[in-house]
Amino acid sequence: MSNSLIIRVAVAAPLFNLFDYLPPDDTSTQELLPGCRVRVPFGRSKRTGVIWEICDHSDAAPPSHSLKAIAEILDKTPLLDEYERHFLSWCASYYHHPIGEVVSAALPTRLRQSRQPGPTLEQGWKLTENTISPDDFRSAPVQQRILKSLHDCKQGMSDKQLRILDGEIPPALRRLQQKGVIERCDITPKLTPPSSDKRVILSPEQQRAVATIHAASGFSTLLLDGITGSGKTEVYLHAADEAISRGRQVMVLVPEIALTPQLLRRFQRGVDGVVAISHSALSGGDRERTWMQAHKGEADLLIGTRSAIFTPMPRLGLIIIDEEHDISFKQQQGFRYSARDLAVMKAKQSNIPVVLGSATPSLETLHNALKERYQWLKLRQRAGKAKPPQIGLVDIRAQRLRAGICSDLVKSIREEIDRDHQVIVFLNRRGYAPQLTCHACGWIAECRHCDARMTWHQKLQRLWCHHCGSQHVKPEKCPDCGATESLIYQGQGTERVEEYLSEVFPSTPVIRIDRDSTRRKGSLEKALHQVNQNDACIMVGTQMLAKGHDFPRVTLVGILNADQGLLNPDFRSPERTAQLLLQVSGRAGRAEKPGRVLIQTRHPHNPLLKTLLHKGYEAFSRDELEQRQHAQLPPFAHQALIRAEGTDSKQVQEFLQFAISRSPQLLPHIELWGPTPALIERKAGYFRWHLLLQTNNRQLLHQRLDAWLEWLRQQPQARRIRWSVDVDPVEIL
Ligand code: ADP
Ligand code: ZN
Ligand code: ZN
Repeated sequence: MSNSLIIRVAVAAPLFNLFDYLPPDDTSTQELLPGCRVRVPFGRSKRTGVIWEICDHSDAAPPSHSLKAIAEILDKTPLLDEYERHFLSWCASYYHHPIGEVVSAALPTRLRQSRQPGPTLEQGWKLTENTISPDDFRSAPVQQRILKSLHDCKQGMSDKQLRILDGEIPPALRRLQQKGVIERCDITPKLTPPSSDKRVILSPEQQRAVATIHAASGFSTLLLDGITGSGKTEVYLHAADEAISRGRQVMVLVPEIALTPQLLRRFQRGVDGVVAISHSALSGGDRERTWMQAHKGEADLLIGTRSAIFTPMPRLGLIIIDEEHDISFKQQQGFRYSARDLAVMKAKQSNIPVVLGSATPSLETLHNALKERYQWLKLRQRAGKAKPPQIGLVDIRAQRLRAGICSDLVKSIREEIDRDHQVIVFLNRRGYAPQLTCHACGWIAECRHCDARMTWHQKLQRLWCHHCGSQHVKPEKCPDCGATESLIYQGQGTERVEEYLSEVFPSTPVIRIDRDSTRRKGSLEKALHQVNQNDACIMVGTQMLAKGHDFPRVTLVGILNADQGLLNPDFRSPERTAQLLLQVSGRAGRAEKPGRVLIQTRHPHNPLLKTLLHKGYEAFSRDELEQRQHAQLPPFAHQALIRAEGTDSKQVQEFLQFAISRSPQLLPHIELWGPTPALIERKAGYFRWHLLLQTNNRQLLHQRLDAWLEWLRQQPQARRIRWSVDVDPVEIL
């Protein structure tokens, strides 16, 4: 131990420890502040890290005199303040994940390296104080045009806006600058003030919800439980606007596929403040700019997908999670966090309210609402003149199907099309057919790298594995029996349904919306535009169609393969199926025209379907919670899943067997299940096995995990295999 300062650094890499360093050698340099990035020597190279804390002694194994010094301090002011570091430390310990990777998740890619953050404001030009008249520039028409434009735009114009004006701009600008008539300036983001005429008059239910959120002082979690189309987004807008008017920042998280241009526009128009957007498709530069705008407090509202939870907001006053039941809030690889659960923790640490909104709340959230840990706000009426859709089952057991569609549904589609209405046909499976089979010998096209079948994609003319992405051409004859012309497509995906409906309704546009049809940038927008342009049309799509979109002219939704979810062995499957059915159904009749939903099923007496349709989601979820309690499953138990994978199945199993060899000592009172193979054991050439840990005492689970993982990580076996911990797993695949 020595008396000199010790700097503890979170190095942006998959490392569990903080690392100790000495201050930089030249002591003349700037102040050392926690939260600033530094470059540190690490092994033979240098890495970027964040100063986590500064103390006067080192617990590190090498004595402090052998510690190395920080090579460079990168930031003058901290990027992560005390609250943010506290939050990230909590994340690392709760998810038993390396602090270095948690810090990496929190920083935009460019800031994980040693780069300096760029300007958050766009650069532009404005007129100087020197009085000039554009008329003096009659002989230089380009310069004259620029001056005229800047004259009309006193706060300045961005480079982008000026470039649109004229291709020749740069030299002309430089000449004007030399003459001292224009100068560089920052362009502050333009505010679109909420237009009062667009504001709807809130229903009494909505008003009550907004008032309750407004009245929440300090930490509180509110469940906004409102049927589809009940005006939840309108409640968010009012609550957000109100928080912004008090000088606070607002964070809004939405599921991956719900961040539509339509929703963005609603937020941009609906609040009186600067709106910043964050999602995974943004370029590195744009992401960094958003992050810095939020961090500096320049953005009033941040709307983004799951990873936006890590954006620091110094004036944060409200968090909103839309569609809180959506599993895209859970990161499914690497650092497996739940952005929804973290939002509740963040609100707690920041002592502010958090709103969880959904038409079909997760059972975890409903459980908390029933236990009165969350305030429960209900919207039971559809907004405006819209009425909830009529939902009916079609028993398809004795029916002849074409492309998976029964004649009743075709008849109903025809009725709506004849009235110039729009229709959605929902099928949760992309491609043309999920199976290619030889009808002579029974051979099935399977993936070489996975325990799974290949899907036939007609447009691509390829067999495609949806698990590992490998593709093949169709064999000319059966690889097993050699028969020619014996290969047939079985089952259907969206491509086949699209083909069939185009044949039946040749004069009606059939628009397919799934991951394949929207892969190209801007293609989803184009498809949605096409829908809005048309009167009658048929949309065929996967769950991409299930949320976020408001199609006022849709009056009929047909659901083709609802049974798929009813037969799935996962204990969460009934919950997921109910949520999906209601979300898709919610697309019908969102405006004045009443809507109806037809669900095709071979299990018309299924108790889940019956409760859901006759008594509603709340009754369904209370039944389901009772069953979970009976079976001691989440939310009545807490789980952690150890996932291991390797190219040798036996080695993977042996590792997990070894891992539980000391469970009597290290994991007392913890239920252990496994090792069991994943549902699809082999995926992309890797064999995947699981170990499930469970108890009804969350604290106990984490304590035991800590001790056990610390032991396990030190074992040589643990380094020979890929394995990870998934706390509160939502999908055990
Ligand atoms: P949700 O988010 O619950 O699905 P939205 O907020 O998108 O519902 O509202 C559905 C539709 O109803 C939108 O077109 C919205 O503009 C409209 N709407 C919402 N609240 C009202 C209201 N109080 N009066 C009239 N129309 C409303
Ligand atoms: Zn064959
Ligand atoms: Zn595969």
